[in-house]
Amino acid sequence: MILSRGLAFTYPHGEPLRFADVSVAQGDTLLLRGPSGSGKSTWLALASGLLTPTAGEVVVSGQPVGRLSAAARDAWRARHIGFLPQKLHLSEALSVADNLGLVYFAAGLPLDKAAVAQTLQALDIAALAARKPSQLSGGQAQRVALARALLLRPSVILADEPSASLDDGACAASLNLMRTCANTLNATVVIATHDARVVQALPTAHVLAFNTRVTA
Ligand code: ADP
Ligand code: MG
Repeated sequence: MILSRGLAFTYPHGEPLRFADVSVAQGDTLLLRGPSGSGKSTWLALASGLLTPTAGEVVVSGQPVGRLSAAARDAWRARHIGFLPQKLHLSEALSVADNLGLVYFAAGLPLDKAAVAQTLQALDIAALAARKPSQLSGGQAQRVALARALLLRPSVILADEPSASLDDGACAASLNLMRTCANTLNATVVIATHDARVVQALPTAHVLAFNTRVTA
């Protein structure tokens, strides 16, 4: 479940970004749709507690995110949010399996090798476990990043421009996989995109349009 009311954010020296209210039931999909620079990544950062709203609030899985203390925020994010960033940030020093293992370290949890293996299996990339990120295709690397996002069984999956570097086939496969995994977890999915293919592929999704930027 994601609710927002009067959500706004202003970067230092920036113009205020104000966001329309949303109400998305648990397990549904929300598309943040709008051109580059319209505030989609900022919205994702507010929903994951990486930024604190200037006004209003966003409530994710019952938690008003901006009200978490700085100390509690990272642990909350690790437990509840699966983030698929625009730049995948896979460590080239580590194998695919060890990149996933880092998730436990970041969350302050003991490594669960069985869960890593099981998640790689579920995403059909077990054969890539020992590879380094540079030995993966773009689509494979994104699958690894999706596996990393799903590892702790999040209630919300946030994806920033996931189709940007994918051809039509890989785009459809990636969205299908994300939706299938989300269904298994009953996770809510939020996808920031300016790609019309994503909107076509997810016809039942809620849409938050970012093209009308309201400035104060
Ligand atoms: P989108 O993801 O839709 O491309 P962003 O949320 O990245 O949009 O950016 C929204 C606006 O905020 C843009 O005008 C951008 O230049 C500005 N912005 C983004 N990040 C910062 C930052 N760290 N400092 C100042 N302004 C920023
Ligand atoms: Mg962005």
